Amino acid sequence: MQEPHGLTAHQLQKEIKTENLKASDIASSIIKRYEQVEDKVKGFAHFEKDTLIERAKDLDKKNKKSPLYKIPVAIKDNICVKDELTTCSSDILSGFKPPYDATVVTKLKQAGALLVGKSNMDEFAFGSSCETSCYGPTKNPYDLERIPGGSSGGSAALVAADETVLAIGSDTGGSIRQPAALCGVVGMKPTYGRVSRYGLIAFGSSLDQIGPLTKDVTDTAILLNIISGHDPMDSTSVDIPVPDYTKSLTKDIKGLRIGLPKEYFIEGLDKDVKERVDSAIETLKGLEVKFIDISLPHTDYAVSVYYIVGCSEASSNLARFDGVQYGLREESKSLVDMYKRTRAKGFGNEAKRRIILGTYSLSSGYYDAYYLKAQRVRSLIREDFNEAFKKCDLILTPTSPTPAFKLGEKTKDPLQMYLSDIFTIPANLAGIPAVSLPCGYSKKGLPVGLQFMAKAFDEENLIRAAYAYEQSADWKRLKPKL
Ligand code: GLN
Repeated sequence: MQEPHGLTAHQLQKEIKTENLKASDIASSIIKRYEQVEDKVKGFAHFEKDTLIERAKDLDKKNKKSPLYKIPVAIKDNICVKDELTTCSSDILSGFKPPYDATVVTKLKQAGALLVGKSNMDEFAFGSSCETSCYGPTKNPYDLERIPGGSSGGSAALVAADETVLAIGSDTGGSIRQPAALCGVVGMKPTYGRVSRYGLIAFGSSLDQIGPLTKDVTDTAILLNIISGHDPMDSTSVDIPVPDYTKSLTKDIKGLRIGLPKEYFIEGLDKDVKERVDSAIETLKGLEVKFIDISLPHTDYAVSVYYIVGCSEASSNLARFDGVQYGLREESKSLVDMYKRTRAKGFGNEAKRRIILGTYSLSSGYYDAYYLKAQRVRSLIREDFNEAFKKCDLILTPTSPTPAFKLGEKTKDPLQMYLSDIFTIPANLAGIPAVSLPCGYSKKGLPVGLQFMAKAFDEENLIRAAYAYEQSADWKRLKPKL
C-alpha cells in the first residue's frame, strides 16, 4: 500500500476500511512526511506533533460514519481552532488562541477529520505569494525557488507536497484558486454565503469565502459536502439546501454551454498558460460541450474596484487589533501611544499599506469618489456575469496569467503583485463560485491551472465540468520531486 499521506481522501477512506487503518497510523505517516519535506516547503504556520498524536488517539476511540473520518486536514491560519494558535501569520496576533471553533472547524471535528495543523499564509490574507507571512514564505513544491501563490499558499503547498490530504483555505480575491493553480491542486471558492464565515478572521467581509484545496475533484465534492450550509452565526450564509455534490461527479457533460470571455484571453498571457488552456478546451470539445464566445466588458476595472472595496473593508476589520484584546501589546503609559506602538510593530508593510489605502478611500471627502464609485462599478461587473449566464452555463478562463514566479520577483512592485489576481477577482466581486484545477505543466515543469466560474449556487456544474475534464485530460500527472 502507498503511504497514507500520499493518497486522496477517497482512496484513503477505502484503505481505512480494507486495511483497518487507525488514525494513529495516519498521524504517523503525516509526521514522517513532515520530517522529510517540511524544512524545504515551510507550509505550516503551526504544527504540533504531540497534539496531532493525541488527537489521533481520541479519534481511534470513536466510530464515525463520515467520509472524512480519520482524514488529515490542514486549516489556514486565519480560521479559528479553539485553544490553538490562530495568528493570520501576523505578529500582531502572536500567541493568540481563540476561545471557540469556526463553524467549518466544528463541522470537520464532528465528521471526525484529523486536524493536522495551521497552514501558512500571507499576513491577514494580503498577498498572492505567501511572502508577507511573519513566519517567512512557503515554497512551491515543484520548484523551491518559486512562490506557491497566495494567500492560501501554505494550504496549497501542503496538499501538493503530500504533507496533508486535504486543506481549507479562504478566498477574497483568488486566495484559494491562484495558489491551487500554481501548486497543481484543485481549489474551489464556493458562492458567497454557501459556507459559513463564522470564525474566519475577516479581511473583506463582502468578498471572503472559505473553501477546499484538494488533490482531485472527487475530494473537493466530498469536502464541500461537509463544510457547506446555513449557519445562524453568519448572517450572510444562505439558507438553501445543500445538494450531495458527489452526485455531480459524472463524465457526461454533453451539451453543456461554456463561455470563453474575450477579456481573459489577452496579450501578456503567458505562452505556456495559453497553450495548456487551449489544449484543455480541445479536450472538452471532445466531450461535446458547446463553446460560446462571450464578453465581460467591465473586466478591466475589476482589480481597481477590488483594491478599493477590499482595502476599505480590511481597514475597518483590522481596527480591532489594537493591543487591547488579542495578541501583541506594546506597553505604554498612554492608551493612544499603546495603540500606535502595538500597530506599528505588529503589522507588516503590506497590512499597513492596505489599512492606509482603505482608510483613505473611506474618509469623508474621498468616500464618494472612491468607495461609492467602486461599489457602483462592482454592480456593473456583477451585471456582466448575469448577462453572460443567459448564454452559457459556465465560463472557462486561465486561473492565473503566469505559472509560479520566483521568490522576491514581485515584492518590490505591489501593482505587479496585484495583477496576479486579474482572472480570479471578478468572481469574488460578483459573489459567484469558481474552481481552479490543474491542466498540465509549463515547459519548466510548473503547474498550470484552469478556472471555471458558474452562477451563484451552481457548484454542481463546476464539479461536473471539472470532473469530466480531469477524467479525460491526456497529460501525465507528476508529483513534485522533493
Ligand atoms: N491576492 C489578493 C490580495 O492580495 C487576494 C487575496 C485573497 O483572496 N485573500 O488581496
